[in-house]
Amino acid sequence: MCNNTDRMQEMMLFDREHLWHPYTSMVDPLPVYMCHKAEGVYLYLDNDKRVIDGMSSWWCTIHGYNNKRLNRAAQKQISKMSHVMFGGITHSPAIELGEQLVEMLPIGLDRIFYSDSGSVSVEVALKMAIQYQYSKGHKSKNNIATIQGGYHGDTWHGMSVCDPEGGMHSLYNGRLTAQYFANRPTCGFYDQWNDSDFDSMREILSKNHDSIAAVIVEPIVQGAGGMWMYHPNYLKELSRECKKHDILLIADEVATGFGRTGKMFAFEWANITPDIICLGKALTGGFVSFAATVATKEVALTISTNSPHSFMHGPTFMANPLSAAVACESLKIIKEGDILKKVAKIEKILLKELEAAKSISSVANVRVLGAIGVLEMHDNVDMGAMQKQFVERGVWIRPFGKLVYIMPQYIITPSALRTLCRVMLEVVSLDC
Ligand code: PLP
Repeated sequence: MCNNTDRMQEMMLFDREHLWHPYTSMVDPLPVYMCHKAEGVYLYLDNDKRVIDGMSSWWCTIHGYNNKRLNRAAQKQISKMSHVMFGGITHSPAIELGEQLVEMLPIGLDRIFYSDSGSVSVEVALKMAIQYQYSKGHKSKNNIATIQGGYHGDTWHGMSVCDPEGGMHSLYNGRLTAQYFANRPTCGFYDQWNDSDFDSMREILSKNHDSIAAVIVEPIVQGAGGMWMYHPNYLKELSRECKKHDILLIADEVATGFGRTGKMFAFEWANITPDIICLGKALTGGFVSFAATVATKEVALTISTNSPHSFMHGPTFMANPLSAAVACESLKIIKEGDILKKVAKIEKILLKELEAAKSISSVANVRVLGAIGVLEMHDNVDMGAMQKQFVERGVWIRPFGKLVYIMPQYIITPSALRTLCRVMLEVVSLDC
C-alpha cells in the first residue's frame, strides 16, 4: 500500500496523462482505481479498500490471485531460466505442458503451437488454416467465415472476424480484410433448437466454399461481443457443413476454455472436434500472458509435407519457459481440483441468485451458463458511474454496453458469490 498521499496523487496524475488504458479516452478517461495487492478473490484498491473480484481479471485468474502453487512454479522455473529461444532449442516446461494438453484434448487434436496472447493464437490459427488450404492446392480458399457478434482479439486479422457492426473495431471497416459474416445464432443455449438458425451460415458455406479456408467461432459463448450463449446444435451443424466443404473449423476457446462454460472446453457441449483451437487467458491461471493454438495431425502434416514445408510464424517468446511452467502447474490444479464440479456449484448459485433480476424493470434478459452470469439491460449503462457504485459496495464488476456480468474465480466461496450477485441486483436497480 502506498502511504504517501502526495506520491499517490503524483502517480495517479502520471497515469492519467501518460498511460493508455483500454477502451477509454486519454482526454476524458473513465476513472481508474489503484490496485496495490490481490489475494484469492480479493483486490485491494485505493486506501486499502477490499473488493470481491467478479471479473477474474477478464476471465483468466481462475485459481485466485497470489496463488501459492503458481508462485512456487514460477519461482522454481526462474531459478533455472526464465526464457530461451524456441528455435533449435526445446525444454521440459514446453514438453510437459504439451503432454498435459494432449491428455486433456480430444484424440487427434495434438499439434501445439505456443504463442504470447489470445489474439496471437487467433492470428496463428487463421494463418494455419490458409496455409493448410494452400498446401492442399486449394489456392482460392483464402477467406474466413464467422458469425456476427463475435470477438477474437485486437490484432489485425483477429479484428477482421470481430463483429463488423456493433463490435469495438467497426471503425476499421474498409481497411480490414473482408470476411463472410453469418447471422448471429438466435437460439439460446436452453431454447428449443430451430434448424433455421443455421440457414444463414449454411447458405454462405454452400455458395462460397471455394473461397473459404475456415470458419472461426467462439464456441457456445460469444464473450466480449455480447455475452451471448447459443445452442450446441449450431456447432454440430457447423462442424458437419465444414467437413462437407473441406473447410476447417477453428474454435476460439481463449475465453471459454478450461471449464468456464461447465465443460473443460465449450466445443464439448456439441460433441464435436474442431480442426484448430485457440487457448489463452486461463491457460496459466491468469498468472502471465501465454497462449496455444492446437491443430489436428491432419492440419499439421498437410502444412509440413508441402512447400514451404514449415509453418511461417515464430514469435520471440514462443513457448516461454516461465509461462509454460506456470501453465503446467495451472493444469495440474485444474485436474486435481475437479474444477468442473466447482463450476457446477457456481452455476447453481448464479441461477438461484440472479433469478430475481428477471423482475427488475431495467433488466431485459438474464443468462447463466457455467461460471458466467449475465444481466442484459434495456439500455446502455454508464460504466464509470455504475463501477463506482460497485466499488462502494465492495465488489469489482466492470459492465460494458448493456451488459452487467460476472465471471468469478473458481475458488470463490458461496457466500462471496452471493454477495457479488446481490450487489449486482442492487446496483442494476439504481438509476445509473
Ligand atoms: N479470443 C477471445 C474469444 C477473447 O475473448 C479474447 C480476449 O478477450 C481474445 C481472443 C484475445 O485475447 P488476448 O486479449 O489475450 O489477446
